[in-house]
Amino acid sequence: MLSRSATGQNRAAGGAAVSIRNLCKRYNNFEAVVPTSVEIDSGDFFAIIGPSGSGKSTLLGMIAGYIDPTEGQIMVDGRDIVPEPIYRRNIGMVFQNYALFPHLSVAQNVAYPLKIRGVAKDEIARRVRESLAMVRLEAFASRKPSELSGGQQQRIALARASIYHPSILLMDEPLGALDKNLRDEMQEEIKRFQQELGATVIYVTHDQQEAAFLADRIAIMRDGAMTQIGSPRALYEQPNSRFVAEFLGEASIFPVKSASGKQAGQPCQIVLEDGTQAIIRTDEDAGPGRFACIRPERVTVGPKARGLDNTYTGIVRESLYTPGSIRYRIELNGTGSTLKVRVLPQGDTEVFETGSAVDIGWSTDDMTILRE
Ligand code: ADP
Repeated sequence: MLSRSATGQNRAAGGAAVSIRNLCKRYNNFEAVVPTSVEIDSGDFFAIIGPSGSGKSTLLGMIAGYIDPTEGQIMVDGRDIVPEPIYRRNIGMVFQNYALFPHLSVAQNVAYPLKIRGVAKDEIARRVRESLAMVRLEAFASRKPSELSGGQQQRIALARASIYHPSILLMDEPLGALDKNLRDEMQEEIKRFQQELGATVIYVTHDQQEAAFLADRIAIMRDGAMTQIGSPRALYEQPNSRFVAEFLGEASIFPVKSASGKQAGQPCQIVLEDGTQAIIRTDEDAGPGRFACIRPERVTVGPKARGLDNTYTGIVRESLYTPGSIRYRIELNGTGSTLKVRVLPQGDTEVFETGSAVDIGWSTDDMTILRE
């Protein structure tokens, strides 16, 4: 649906709400995507991350229409699109390999989706100008794709995918082929672009930082299932499993041997497999088979650690000063277990060298209990 904004430009009236219901894909007896249900709000930036082979592309392919689901529905603004062919779905797609037509100019590439929809010539010319302006490549209209950098080609792919104002944009590793600096720059570009377009974006990446930067919500896939869905912050601070904690951000994770004195909301004592004792607060079962997790920035190093609920001595095994943060690997109490630590230096923060003996500690609320 199009609306004419105050500036006279056509814009997508907004994104579509996507409701995925028991969507599943089986190849013979193998479930590439197990029955999956998720609600994605209109205009949301929804990222899907997970290791290779976890089902990300299969899920995206079913939404796009080039993979037939074994079962389930994909409701877009209340209408099931599964029976609809690709070209009727009003979904824009951007992939890692830009898939631009090499023999066509930039303008002809961007115009292509409108041309095959039979849009009038002058309308096409106007919309191509508008789309190229959105990705800031107006000056490149007559070039061939081979005369552009990787980042510029990907911006053309964005312009082409959005020129017919799709209410949903699917992106599969769109920055996968770009180097680190360009990726960072393009992340900003994609965010700005989505906000301007208003489309609902479903974005597949294996890069957790990219997902955390871009997305309102992230789904983490494992063995064909969305194992946890939440805001980047919720996934980082309240991972529901060891898998999620390790996949999103850094963590030190230790197997738990036993727990005692556990009462809802009250601190309890746990003993780790290496013999370390800690007082924590958790609503989870903290017994054997579970894991204790602490994020690197939750560990306090130096004299301030002494006043905390859990204090230990440690030996710095690695010390790395980088602009903006100090990173340590610290051996705990001579147990052989090591903790990852990250300190944001203030003006007077002491930097401990490798081999130093240090106090380390954390509070009851800093350690969380995870299942496998
Ligand atoms: P990801 O995008 O997360 O890397 P995919 O969605 O591509 O994962 O694949 C999920 C699983 O489904 C993988 O184990 C893959 O080997 C399997 N798979 C994908 N396509 C087919 C197919 N056409 N036939 C059989 N198995 C497939």
